[in-house]
Amino acid sequence: MTPIQISIQPKILHDKKTGIKKTGLALFSIGLLFFLISFTSASEISPVFFFIFSIGLGSLGALIFFYGQYRDNLIAGVKKNGTMFLDATNKGLIGWAAAVFLTAFYVCLYWFPEVFTYASKPFDWLSMLLRNLPSDQWFLYGALYTVAIGIMGVRMMIHNRHNRYQIIRTCSVIFFQLGFGFLIPNILLILNEPGFYFSYFWPLKYDYLFPGTLDYLMKSPGALGTFMAFWAVMMTFIALPVLTYFFGKRWYCSWVCGCGGLAETLGDPYRHLSDKSLTSWKYERYIIHSVLLIIIVLTGMLWINSYLQGEILGKFTNSFAKVYGFVIGAGFAGVAGVGFYPLMGSRVWCRFGCPLAAILGFLQKKISRFRITTNGAQCISCGNCSTYCEMGIDVRAYAQNGKNIIRSSCVGCGICAEVCPRGVLKLENGPLISKYN
Ligand code: SF4
Ligand code: SF4
Repeated sequence: MTPIQISIQPKILHDKKTGIKKTGLALFSIGLLFFLISFTSASEISPVFFFIFSIGLGSLGALIFFYGQYRDNLIAGVKKNGTMFLDATNKGLIGWAAAVFLTAFYVCLYWFPEVFTYASKPFDWLSMLLRNLPSDQWFLYGALYTVAIGIMGVRMMIHNRHNRYQIIRTCSVIFFQLGFGFLIPNILLILNEPGFYFSYFWPLKYDYLFPGTLDYLMKSPGALGTFMAFWAVMMTFIALPVLTYFFGKRWYCSWVCGCGGLAETLGDPYRHLSDKSLTSWKYERYIIHSVLLIIIVLTGMLWINSYLQGEILGKFTNSFAKVYGFVIGAGFAGVAGVGFYPLMGSRVWCRFGCPLAAILGFLQKKISRFRITTNGAQCISCGNCSTYCEMGIDVRAYAQNGKNIIRSSCVGCGICAEVCPRGVLKLENGPLISKYN
């Protein structure tokens, strides 16, 4: 990759608000206001009006704002100027407000769904179109999630337009979220099929290998349910290890997964907030492997219970599954996983909690051809790579020693290589024999 020149501009230049950006910001603010008002009965007056003025206007405003940023920086290249000075991206008032808003949104989504009674109405027309059902909080969530990845994906591509890897990777996460994370599961419902997510696998989608889920899929009328059960098993035990052998965990965590997709787009402005300390790395290993152990034990217990027809464990395993869903599925993956973006960086869940990331990380470290090579002699120890590593890896330490970076947690986002002014880092797939050289 060609070395990129990074210019450090003072805050005042970065904050410059041109007319285009002001217009974008104003439209986005109006959209946000209408979105908040849609939580009241006012949205019943004209749901389509509220859809246009909240989602439509908000998205348009964001796109205009990003276009303004593009106009201000017509020369392609790394655009990280001012990141550490902005309130929004460095835990200032706006950053905290965003964290509170996101956290409250997820808390209501999981535990107070009645809050969304009116807010979901503007999405009724889309829900009827896709699945012939009125909208609910989950449909609203799926739609917002997809819009967020799409809009922030455009931003990501504008900012990284000099980097082919980032553009293709961003197109990939938008494609998988729109198609496999939103359209297909909803359209399946209109066909009277289970709303299956083909791009999520056990143990991230923790119930996909539970006996009850597989039994339900197998008993669904038609062959599609059986295929879904086959897909869930084959992807987990065959495709995931094989693809990880060839490409590392990046093929999934940075190209396909919806959680990774949101982190790479909506979470991109916060990637530098990940903690790089050794203590953090220690907690990361303890927590993520504990979650993995819990879900393996839970799944095993459910199968034993199913085999014994509940004779020994009775209903205990089902209660255990519910607790896991409440604490890990909702609390960790949802509330903390996204709500803490503006405070702890974009990969809180992927780094500390995702049991699938733990499995893929283990495979990446032990058997995969993937590694980041370093040309240590060129490193000037600027630390950009470590700063912008969303997984909290101290990339610079490896670069200074000229060592290949082989870390379980690396999701292969490629941002460390992008921000390096000396072209020291290279994401590669190569023979295992040279992996540690
Ligand atoms: S080491 Fe580089 S490629 Fe890996 S997660 Fe960190 S920034 Fe991304
Ligand atoms: S490898 Fe990291 S520390 Fe070394 S020059 Fe590149 S960005 Fe700077």
